[in-house]
Amino acid sequence: GKVLVSGANGYVAVWVVRTLLEEGYSVRGAVRSTEKGTHLTQLFASYGDKFELVIVPDITKEGAFDEAVKGIDAIEHTASPYHFQADDPAELIEPAVKGTVAILESARKYGTSVKRVVVTSSTAAIIQVAPTSLILDESDWNDQAVEEVTQKGREASQAAKYRASKVLAERAAWDFVAKHKDEISWDLSFMNPPLVLGPTIHEVPSASALNTSARMMHDAFAKGEGLTTGGSWIDVRDLALAHVRALQKAEAGGERIIVCAGAFLWQDWLDAAPAGSKHQKGTPGAGKDVVHAVQYKNEKGIRILGIRYRSMAETAADVLGEYEARGW
Ligand code: NDP
Repeated sequence: GKVLVSGANGYVAVWVVRTLLEEGYSVRGAVRSTEKGTHLTQLFASYGDKFELVIVPDITKEGAFDEAVKGIDAIEHTASPYHFQADDPAELIEPAVKGTVAILESARKYGTSVKRVVVTSSTAAIIQVAPTSLILDESDWNDQAVEEVTQKGREASQAAKYRASKVLAERAAWDFVAKHKDEISWDLSFMNPPLVLGPTIHEVPSASALNTSARMMHDAFAKGEGLTTGGSWIDVRDLALAHVRALQKAEAGGERIIVCAGAFLWQDWLDAAPAGSKHQKGTPGAGKDVVHAVQYKNEKGIRILGIRYRSMAETAADVLGEYEARGW
């Protein structure tokens, strides 16, 4: 089958493309410009015509993906801004919501052979802030972020602006399939990963140009910054495999699925690194007794997708190996 991957040049997406190709799929990668596809064409040259590019200059435009979905059997929609630099929340919310609705609308009209659409959401669409620590699952929704952005607009926190974009995109997609269920040949599946970490294979000219999540890891390992903060994580290669399994497993249809390996403090990553590697050491052991404000149940994902997630030791070793090789 042939799979359309939107935002194909992104950190997560390039691993999704590679995993699809390794599993024998053909891939059509959507990027915003020819220039953004150059690295991909080189990276996947050995796959010949099993990898092709399509240029979608503006994902928020109606009909944006009309050509891109033709002849496609499944869609992986990853394109969405992930950064904490938005002034107007619309900078994040517009592309997140309109981009998602546009790809679904194109799939409805022209995706006659599409069987499943997998969308990359996030635990950002689930997380909540509470006075006690929480254990959350797929039934939880982060309505707090939407309320904050509705009330405060530009004055809302950066986290709330990004999180609201993920909640609203997800809700818009579920509403879309409910409304059009009699006109579509496909079902929908959402991947909800926490912070995505691990090596990079997308185009990264320098460590300072890393995508948001990989940069946080570099700040911890190379600079010793933020060590008393943390969150939950998944290795990017496991998340990519989850996106592929979500196409293959019937039970993934109609579900949102948390894809999470566990909780961490950045200090834990320093402690998990192989002995002798060059990185900041912080205060070894300081992360051990921390009570995490939020944790996620990951049983549903493990059951449906059947993936054994990488350990911190394995991911840390691979990331430090990459830094070494790149001189970061
Ligand atoms: P990257 O920044 O590496 O990739 C983002 C991708 O989305 C790029 O292809 C980018 O294209 C595209 N994109 C961003 N804004 C727009 C826009 N306005 N119009 C069109 N395309 C756009 O980030 P990630 O790989 O980390 O993120 C991929 C997905 O994973 C996102 O949906 C994100 O929310 C989600 N996610 C990521 C997590 C993480 O920790 N990394 C955690 C949970 C979810 P371009 O290069 O042209 O800007």
